Amino acid sequence: MSQNILVNEIGYLPMDPKRAVYRGEGTMEFSVIDRKTGEKVYEGVTGREIICSAAEEKNRIISFDGVVEEGEYIIKAGGEESVPFVIKEWVYSDAMKALLKFFYLQRCGQKLPEEIAGEFAHEPCHDTNARIYGTDRFIDVSGGWHDAGDFGRYIVPAAVTIGHLFLAMELDPNLIKFDFGIPVENPDLGQLLSEIKYETDWMLKMQDTESGEVYHKVSCTHFCDFFMPEEEKDELVISPVSYAATLDFAASLAMAVRFFKPVDAEYADILADASKKAYEAAKKMEVKGFHNPEGIVTGEYGDESLEDELYWASAELYRTFGEEEYRKTFEEMAYKHISHGYGWEDVYSFGNVAYILSEFPVDETLKSIIIAAIDAKADSLLYLCKSNGYNISFNEKSFIWGSNMYLMQNAFHLYTAYFFTKKDDYLEAAKEHTHYILGKNPCNVCFLTGFGTNRVLNPHHRPSAAKKKPMPGMVVGGPDSGLHDPTAEKYLKGQPSAKCYVDELLSYSTNEITLYWNSAMVVMLALFVEGYRELK
Ligand SMILES: [Zn+2]
Repeated sequence: MSQNILVNEIGYLPMDPKRAVYRGEGTMEFSVIDRKTGEKVYEGVTGREIICSAAEEKNRIISFDGVVEEGEYIIKAGGEESVPFVIKEWVYSDAMKALLKFFYLQRCGQKLPEEIAGEFAHEPCHDTNARIYGTDRFIDVSGGWHDAGDFGRYIVPAAVTIGHLFLAMELDPNLIKFDFGIPVENPDLGQLLSEIKYETDWMLKMQDTESGEVYHKVSCTHFCDFFMPEEEKDELVISPVSYAATLDFAASLAMAVRFFKPVDAEYADILADASKKAYEAAKKMEVKGFHNPEGIVTGEYGDESLEDELYWASAELYRTFGEEEYRKTFEEMAYKHISHGYGWEDVYSFGNVAYILSEFPVDETLKSIIIAAIDAKADSLLYLCKSNGYNISFNEKSFIWGSNMYLMQNAFHLYTAYFFTKKDDYLEAAKEHTHYILGKNPCNVCFLTGFGTNRVLNPHHRPSAAKKKPMPGMVVGGPDSGLHDPTAEKYLKGQPSAKCYVDELLSYSTNEITLYWNSAMVVMLALFVEGYRELK
């Protein structure tokens, strides 16, 4: 197989633009071969040379938009053959199923039966009451999803994860009915809302019933060994409440109200009360970042910049409840400063989108200013895409810890800009980022476990390590030029930044997985619904 022809290893939609990358010297003729018949179905010449400094490569784009027949293909160029890939309608269906089923497989506190979870079946885990840090009080906070490669459960990333999933449902309303093979208690909800409810039920338990403040996280004091979740038996400790957790909780549950209301009004009311109560509580809280209390060393999700949490919550509560107070708070902040972000530490974009799409009255001038800011940022991302050998909005400094997440955030941003401006270049650029994740990248790896020819085999994920098999449907962190773990240091020293990725269990800085990388990838695939609709 070629190391120099890089494709989306899953494939492409028939009517979408199709790009692969050739790395090497000189212009080259290429051909696309139908794998079944062996026939050449398309030929062309590679594009202009692009110097990709992040990968220290010379790249040329292979464009083969003209191949629209469904089938399995390879590309030949320079005496090499690409890995096979498929062209067909909604080619990402299996990937979407695996991405969503991952959330079920991350469930905590419940037995996962073998007939659904396969080899990742487990007994109930983490189902004892947890001690509130610094007290002798124990409360029930069972349920929810394990956050990442570890078994902690954290509110800040949980809120962003469900935020992404709601965005995906907004992009593609058919997702609500999507069958990814999990059981549901209430058929009205469908599988995706049922799965999200598993998380929101847990989130509700993390709110202090008196004050309305929200605990930052629940975990054991330390990370455990690489075993299945029910084997972690240490005491569960609930870390103190935080401003970020309280507002992210308020924001994401306000979003949830809009989706649950038509199918379970009673539950939507519970979410609405919890959301408003958290927002009220935050007003009285000290605005300060969370730090692990003494003796706790699990994921911190600390964040010193906290304006965006209030920005998101105000916009989201306004869009859901229409109360003037939320609007006023948001508008005052937005007139001072407009920023962007779809990650756990920067959530401004959620706020921007909620305000623009609000059905309650908004300040039309401010709305135009926000859209112009989104457009300007997308334009700068597009500029980066055009000068990058892989058509992504990254330069050599972009490959930091969790680079795949930042890449997907940029793609969301491009899509958001497309949604409001209808500039096709933005949509096309957003989709190139998905092709990057799925194999068209300098590492020559499909970063989604269980898919592609060049697969991730050793993700930093405890159940996968315990079963000696990667759980399918997980997006790994990707290249990190900071070499933040000893394994990365050992294997990657001297590598160009875009190639600082190693498929090793212990490389937590390049090969871990998280809920909010998976949820981001769900949005990345939902973007393709635009291309899909054109076929109808
Ligand atoms: Zn658990």
